This record gives sequence, C-alpha cells and structure tokens, in this order.
Amino acid sequence: MAEDDAPWSNFGFAEEAAVFKGPTQNARVLSEGWVAANAFCPSCGATPLTAFAANSPVADFHCGVCAEEYELKATKGRTD
Ligand SMILES: [Zn+2]
Repeated sequence: MAEDDAPWSNFGFAEEAAVFKGPTQNARVLSEGWVAANAFCPSCGATPLTAFAANSPVADFHCGVCAEEYELKATKGRTD
C-alpha cells in the first residue's frame, strides 16, 4: 500500500490543482438561456439554483442541496 495514495491527501491536492488550472474548471458552465428556461440543478434536480453574490470570482450559481457550482456563460453575440 502506498501511503501517498491516501484519499485525504489526493483530495486536498486535487482542489488546489483545480484552482491553478483556471476558474472555469471549478464550475459547470450554463448558458443564460438554459438557466432562464430551466433553473434547476442539473446534478441533482433541486430547484431553484441560488445566485452567488456579485463579487463571486468564479461561479454565478450554486445548488443548496448538492453544492454543485455553476458559471453563467453570457451570450457573446451582440446585435448592434
Ligand atoms: Zn444539486
């Protein structure tokens, strides 16, 4: 048994690694249209999703039941 395979150790390292990969790696990305039309947690089906405070650096919504985090992907196209 390798001691560096300890689950608690891997979990802690994985969390830090995810941060360095980039903020979008930490949250699932939903489109504005999807949220407007559905607004439930795709992970567990709970509703509604809770909006984070505006100063949240990563995610826009989170699920109060399973704690999954979601980033709202704004539509980039502009009709000007
Ligand atoms: Zn959920």
